[in-house]
Amino acid sequence: LAIPHIKVKKICCIGAGYVGGPTCTIIAAKNPDIIVTIVDINQARIDAWNSDNLPISEPGLDEVVKSCRGRNLFFSTDVDKAIHDADLIFVSVNTPTKTKGMGAGYAADLGYVESATRRIAQIARSDKIVVEKSTVPCRTAQNMRYILEANSKAGIRFDILSNPEFLAEGTAVSDLMNPDRVLIGSLKTESGRAAAASLADVYASWVARDQIITMNLWSSELSKLAANALLAQRISSINALSAICEATGADIEEVSYACGLDTRIGPKFLKASVGFGGSCFQKDILNLVYLSESLHLPEVAAYWKQVVDMNEYQKRRFSNRVISSFFNTIYGKKIAILGFAFKKDTSDTRESPAITLVNHFRTEGAQIAIYDPKVQESQIWIDLTEPGVMDDLTEVQKQVSIAKDAYAACDDADAVIICTEWDEFRDTVLDYKLIYDHMKKPAFVFDGRLILNKTRLEDMGFQVGTIGRATSG
Ligand code: NAD
Repeated sequence: LAIPHIKVKKICCIGAGYVGGPTCTIIAAKNPDIIVTIVDINQARIDAWNSDNLPISEPGLDEVVKSCRGRNLFFSTDVDKAIHDADLIFVSVNTPTKTKGMGAGYAADLGYVESATRRIAQIARSDKIVVEKSTVPCRTAQNMRYILEANSKAGIRFDILSNPEFLAEGTAVSDLMNPDRVLIGSLKTESGRAAAASLADVYASWVARDQIITMNLWSSELSKLAANALLAQRISSINALSAICEATGADIEEVSYACGLDTRIGPKFLKASVGFGGSCFQKDILNLVYLSESLHLPEVAAYWKQVVDMNEYQKRRFSNRVISSFFNTIYGKKIAILGFAFKKDTSDTRESPAITLVNHFRTEGAQIAIYDPKVQESQIWIDLTEPGVMDDLTEVQKQVSIAKDAYAACDDADAVIICTEWDEFRDTVLDYKLIYDHMKKPAFVFDGRLILNKTRLEDMGFQVGTIGRATSG
C-alpha cells in the first residue's frame, strides 16, 4: 500500500555530524512548524550541540542554532524516541572507507548505515519516510529496504529516498541557504513519488521549486559520488599541470585563468594547491573505484583511481620540493606549518594535507611548529598519533610543538609552509616582514595554497616556493 503525500510534522536526523547538524538546523530554522530532533550516540557531541561551544565551526552556524534550539530544534542521545516520534528520518551517519576485509581501502563501510536502519526497523510503530543523507554506494537503498522490511512490525510502511548533501565545509550555512540544487531520488512508484513530494515540501520553504530536482533513486545515489569525483578530478588535473609549470617557467595561475575563461570549462575549482583533503573526495572516489571494479569495469576503476594517485603525488612532490631546497636534508631544521585544517573556515582536519606533510618532515628529522586558528590542540595530537602511522605522543612531541600564533610558530624557523588558505595568513594581514626578521637565513616560505604575493615576499628577502611556479633564488 502506498504512503500518501504527507505534510511532515516531525523530523529525526540520525547523526549529528558535519552534515546532519548543519543541514537539519537549517531545515528547522526554515520550517518553524516542524519539530526537528537531531540524535547521535556520541554523548559528548550532543552535549556540545546543546552548549555555547558547538562541535562544528562554520561561519554563521552559531546564530542559526541559537535562533531555533529549544523552539523546534532539539539535540539528543535518545535515538529511539526521536525515531518513534518522527514521520521522516534522515540517516546522516558516517560512511568511512572500510579498513578491513573485502574491499578494504576502497569500499565504503556501511556498518553505521546498517545499524541506524536496523534501529529504525525495530523502533518504528508508524509509517516512516527514510532518507539517505549519507553518501552511499549506488543501490544502498535496496539493502536498507530489505533490512527495514525484514525487521519491522507487520503493517508498517517505509519509503526510502536518496537526498545527498552537496554542502562544502567552511561554507555549510550559505551552501544550505542557497543550494545550487536539492536532489531527491525515489522509486518511480506512486508511493516513492508521494514520499519525494513530502520531502520536497520541506525544502520548498526556502528553495525554489525548480531547484528541487527529483529523479530515479539510483541516479541520485550515483550523482553524489559523480559530483565529488568530478570536483576532485579538476583539482588533480590542475595540480598535474602545476608540475609542468614548475619545470618550464609557465605560471599555473595564468594557465588556470586562461583556461577558466573558456565558458565550457569555467573558472571554479581550478586552483592549484598542495592537494585536496577532507573526509569526502578521496573516500567517495575510492568508493567509485570499488563500485567500478565490482561491476567488472577495470578501465573505469583505473581512470578514477588516478585522481587519488595524482593527489598523493602532489603532496609528496610539494614536501620533496621543501626538502630539496635545503640540499636534501632538513634534519634539525625548524619548519613552521601555518594551517592544519583541510581548508579554511573549518576546524575539520580529516585527510588534511598538513598531516601528510608533518609526518613526512618528521621522518626526515625536522622540528615542526604548527599553528592553526581553529583546530584544537588535542585534535592535532590525535591526527599525528594515528595507530600504525606514527609512534606514541611523547615521541611525536620530541619533534612537534603547537604554537599560540603564527608569529610564535615562525620564530627562528628555517621555512614557513602555508598548508591552509586561512585569510589571516595572507601577506596583507600577517606581518611577513616581522616574520622574516625573526627567521633563520636564508628564510624560505612555501605557499601550498597560492595565497601569497610572491614578488612582495621576495622583495622582503624570502626565498619563495609557490605551487606551479619556479622557486625563487
Ligand atoms: P560525521 O562523522 O561528522 O558524523 C556522523 C555522526 O553519526 C557521528 O557523530 C556518529 O556518532 C553518528 N552515528 C553513527 N552511527 C550512529 C547511530 N547508529 N545512531 C546515531 N548516531 C550515529 O560525518 P559527516 O561528515 O557528517 O558525514 C556524514 C555523511 O555525509 C557521510 O556519508 C559523508 O560522506 C556525507 N557527506 C559529508 C560531507 C562533509 O562535508 N563532511 C558533505 C556531504 C556529504
